Amino acid sequence: MSETIPAVGIDLGTTFSALARLDDKGQPVTVVNAEGDRSTPSMVLFDGDEVVVGKEALKAFATESHRVADGSKRDMGRRVYHKEINGKHYPPEVIGAFILNKMRVDAQAQLGPFTKAVITVPAYFDEVRRKATQDAGYMAGLEVIDIINEPTAAAIAFGMAHGFLRPDEDRKTPHTVLVYDLGGGTFDVTVMEIRGTNYITLATDGDVQLGGYDWDQRLVDLVAERFIRLHMADPREDPTTAGKLWRECEDAKRTLSSRAKAAIPCDYRGFAERIEIARQEFEEATQDLLDRTRFTMTQTLKAAGLTWDKLDRVLLTGGSTRMPMVRAMVRRISGKEPDTSVAADEAVAHGAALRAGQILARSQGKPPAFRIRNVNSHSLGVVGLDRLTGRKRNGILIPRNTPIPVTARRTFKTRKADQRSILVEIVEGENLSPDDCTPIGRCTIRKLPKGLPERSPVDVHFHYEPNGRLKVRVSVPNTDAKIETEFTRENGLPKEHLDGWRRYISGAEPTAYA
Ligand code: AMP
Repeated sequence: MSETIPAVGIDLGTTFSALARLDDKGQPVTVVNAEGDRSTPSMVLFDGDEVVVGKEALKAFATESHRVADGSKRDMGRRVYHKEINGKHYPPEVIGAFILNKMRVDAQAQLGPFTKAVITVPAYFDEVRRKATQDAGYMAGLEVIDIINEPTAAAIAFGMAHGFLRPDEDRKTPHTVLVYDLGGGTFDVTVMEIRGTNYITLATDGDVQLGGYDWDQRLVDLVAERFIRLHMADPREDPTTAGKLWRECEDAKRTLSSRAKAAIPCDYRGFAERIEIARQEFEEATQDLLDRTRFTMTQTLKAAGLTWDKLDRVLLTGGSTRMPMVRAMVRRISGKEPDTSVAADEAVAHGAALRAGQILARSQGKPPAFRIRNVNSHSLGVVGLDRLTGRKRNGILIPRNTPIPVTARRTFKTRKADQRSILVEIVEGENLSPDDCTPIGRCTIRKLPKGLPERSPVDVHFHYEPNGRLKVRVSVPNTDAKIETEFTRENGLPKEHLDGWRRYISGAEPTAYA
């Protein structure tokens, strides 16, 4: 029965994932996993035929890092995960699917069967990465009812916690919030306006290759360099020692968030050391990483057409914002005390559950509790030829930070008489050279009506959906011809592979899937 479907939201993080649902009162609550934890390490151990996800995989990482997939979110959208595991090259979305499947199975043990869920992605994820995330959900036996941006989810959770979602509350004056989200592997900045129950994204930017992980690496390097000075041996050379050291450093990094120094054990080639690192030293070694976030934050505020004095709040989410250097920098640049009122690790999953609740309510004819309006995080263009230079050029159709949904149309002309097909290459990115952009895919327009004269117009409509996914439709002016478009995605897994993995990972049968 539709009333009993739980509203589930999943934050598929680079280092940790969390699942939340709405309780009877419509409040988001985190669902603990089978181990009783509120978050699950996003790590997968391939142990012979057995696949183990979460805490056990994290433990195994220290000694058997070659059999553990970690940080697969950073590779989402690529063809294969960067590390070979047991001689196999897994697509990153398959690793994501194993993680999501555990989250689903653990939650079902408490909530009963469900398949519908909202999954979050960094706002800065491009189309290809969003599609890969959606596919991961499918292979995990889920029906992904929406993909929403992590900062938007955090802002919704914040809005809920602060009464913005209560219709009786006098919250009509717009409230501008900058969400600074520094997680394990990705960094996102989003400027939003909360106007009553409307969440409007004004601008977004970020870096999918910047997160707590990079701070860990710097700490590993600091310790390794000290060790080399002492013993002329580099503990990073040996994968097992390196895996162990990385775990110790991640732990020490957390210690350094509350203490002025931390001691990191490092045992290599018979030399056992405890290397002491001071917070200041750690901060100096990672200053450039923090500067990158500062630069992006300032640029995003500018893109939103705001200045710091016009901004009401800076919201911090993501585990890495617990580092004092982040808080100090935000305070200094913005002149405001950063808001940490929503739980850094759980806010995103909570916001996703609220979004799931909204979608399920709408399917039952209930009015939405809130509305979201997003912008696209990358410009969308088609590859064309520059007539003057003969070089390939990215013709931008939908500039970044355009409110979505949006449809853009481009008219192509047939080159010769009776041409029956056209190939359109679609890219995402700001650069004029398509080689420096992300290829999204190729759209082949087939079965154009017979007998079209040379230079006949063919209209291609690009529809950017609110979830950041792209749909393409084609029409030929003055005809009602039904044109087929085949959108072949870059690096995407074909449907039969998705179905095979879905059966293997989740035991669920294939379903229709767009
Ligand atoms: P998230 O993906 O948002 O859960 O963020 C996870 C990241 O936050 C990982 O890189 C963690 O090492 C980092 N993290 C969690 N707690 C702390 C802390 N107390 N100090 C510094 N980093 C932390």
